[in-house]
Formats: sequence, structure tokens, C-alpha cells
Amino acid sequence: MILVTGSSGRVGRAVVAALRAKGRRVRGFDLRPSGVDGNEVIGSLEDAAKLVEAVHGVTDILHLGAFMSWAPADRDLMFSVNVEGTRRLLDAASAAGVRRFVFASSGEIYPENRPEFLPVTEDHPLKPNSPYGLNKLLGEEMVRFHQRTGSIETVVLRFSHTQDASELLDEDSFFSGPRFFLRPRIRQQESFGNTAVADLLRSKDIGTPAHVLARNQNGRPFCMHITDTRDMVSGILLALDHPDAAGGIFNLGGNEPTDFSELLPRMAALTDLPVVAVDFPGDGVYYHTSNEQIRNTLGFEAEWTIDRMLEEAAVARQRRLAGETRQ
Ligand code: NAD
Repeated sequence: MILVTGSSGRVGRAVVAALRAKGRRVRGFDLRPSGVDGNEVIGSLEDAAKLVEAVHGVTDILHLGAFMSWAPADRDLMFSVNVEGTRRLLDAASAAGVRRFVFASSGEIYPENRPEFLPVTEDHPLKPNSPYGLNKLLGEEMVRFHQRTGSIETVVLRFSHTQDASELLDEDSFFSGPRFFLRPRIRQQESFGNTAVADLLRSKDIGTPAHVLARNQNGRPFCMHITDTRDMVSGILLALDHPDAAGGIFNLGGNEPTDFSELLPRMAALTDLPVVAVDFPGDGVYYHTSNEQIRNTLGFEAEWTIDRMLEEAAVARQRRLAGETRQ
């Protein structure tokens, strides 16, 4: 039996579906129900008793559950769920004699938004600059501790930024809304208390909905990885099953980063929205993370290029808009 935490989330539900399609026995664990029939424990990573129930009879754990937030007000909850929750789960896993534990870490531990060299490889110094990145680094330390001192085989996957293709052109989505659409970005910055950036963005509002092309203070467009959830699923399944994954630390993501100066005009052509360029203070986001190690060691291949994702995103957007018109 494989336990998947975060089984109602973007990556978790896709992993559960992929495992079930292969005939594997899976138990989900999440705060909220997935809405899909099947073995599922509903509870919090903060609840040690629920975790003992969840790990009962389990051979392997894919720990994908986490509370992702960059809002200052969420800091206490994030440490409780992501750091203490991971510690509790590892302890429960160890007591239950689990074979392999795969941990979803993040590129924010380097951090990718301030790389010391490119491409970012697994031996890049670990100096997170967000509480979320720090959560993941502490999680990795606890995973390494168990690998060193216990009997669990562990695998750390440092996830790329990951999205369902259908989210890319959705202004209401968690990541793409603020990343690619001006007004959601204003709302996000207001909620973070970043008044100066919110004012800057508001000064660029042309009175109608628009995309935002993010650039740094010198006008360099942002450039980062956007990996399709389906590629992440393939990497996670390799981490679960491949003998050479045990004890490993791998960057997991697509091959090439996406340059926003190329992406935004293509998005605009699909949405019919204007693009507004905004030069944000600071160095901005500009990185390329190497997935060579997981390709060479486990045979990972990313299949979902940004072009393929955009095709799906456009169809999903049309469906959403048609649905809204009907209501
Ligand atoms: P998601 O937010 O869609 O899914 C996370 C799931 O964890 C949710 O279903 C949520 O309900 C669950 N969860 C939150 N708090 C919980 C708690 N207290 N107890 C139990 N479950 C709880 O995120 P995702 O995109 O599927 O990400 C999966 C993993 O990958 C996470 O660990 C995340 O930190 C990591 N990651 C994601 C990205 C990304 O860009 N999506 C990038 C780097 C790392």
C-alpha cells in the first residue's frame, strides 16, 4: 500500500490516479476529500493520531501534502503543517517500518529566484529566502536524518514550479492569476502588504483586464521553469520505484525555462487581452534549473513543453468562458 499525502492537491490527485491506473494499492491523506472514490484518510498533518492511522499497513509514502503560502499571516500554520507535520509523518513512517519515503521539496531552497550560478544543480548552496523555502529545507534535513539513522529509504525531489496546463490562462488560479494577470497581481501584493509594488502595478492599470509581463528593475523579463503536473507525476513514480533513487536528491522539472517576453505575447494572442510590462524593483526572477541528474540516473523525460501546455490552456479557458456565459 502506498500512502500519498496531499492527495486532493494538484500533484497528489494526479499521482493517485496514475498509481490506481497501474493497479497499485493507494491510500490518500489530505485535509479535504478528493471527491474520488477510494481509500482516503481525511485529517491534518498536525494530528499525530491521524498520521498513525494513515501509515497503518503502508509500504511507501509519497509526501506531497503541504501548506503553500507566501502571506506573512500564514507563517505559524505553515511551520506547524510543513515542518512539524513532516517530522510527525516521518516518525510514524519509521515506527510502521515503511520502506521508501519520497519528499516533495522545492527549488525555493536554493533559492532559484536568487541563484549563485546557472543552471541550478543539486550541489547549489541551500540558502532559502522565504519561510516556505525554509520549511522545505528543514523538511529535507529531517528526511536526511531518517535516511542516516533509520531504516527508511528516502528520496528528495526538489520540485520545479508546477501547474496544471488548464491553470495557465485562468486569472482566478492560485499561481497563474497573479503571475500573468495584472489585477490579480495587484490583489496579491495588497494581501502581502507590499504597498509600494501594489501602487506601482495600479499605476499600470489601463482600465481593462490585462496581462502583466514581469521584468526586473533593468527591464530584463522574468524567466523560470513552469512544469506540467503530468511530468512531475512521471518523476515521482520513478522516485517511488527506481532502485537507484534510494538516498537520492534530484531536481525534478521540465528541460527548459520559459522566457516571459516570449510567453506573454503568446498568452495574449490566446486571451485577446493586452499586455502591460512592469519593471519590478530588484533582480527579478531569472533561472534555469538542471534536471540532468534525474534524467541520467532514473531515466526521467519531460514531455509537456510550454507549447503543449498552452494549447490545453486555451481550450480550458474557452470552456470556462462558455460556462460563465451560460450561467
Ligand atoms: P496543492 O496545494 O495543490 O496540494 C497540497 C495539498 O496538501 C492540498 O490538497 C492540501 O489540502 C493539502 N494540505 C494542506 N495542509 C494540509 C494539512 N495540514 N494536512 C493534510 N493535508 C494538507 O500543491 P501541489 O502543487 O500539488 O504541490 C504538491 C507538493 O509539491 C507540495 O508539497 C508543495 O509544497 C510542493 N511544491 C509544489 C510546487 C508547485 O509549483 N506546485 C513547487 C515546489 C514544490
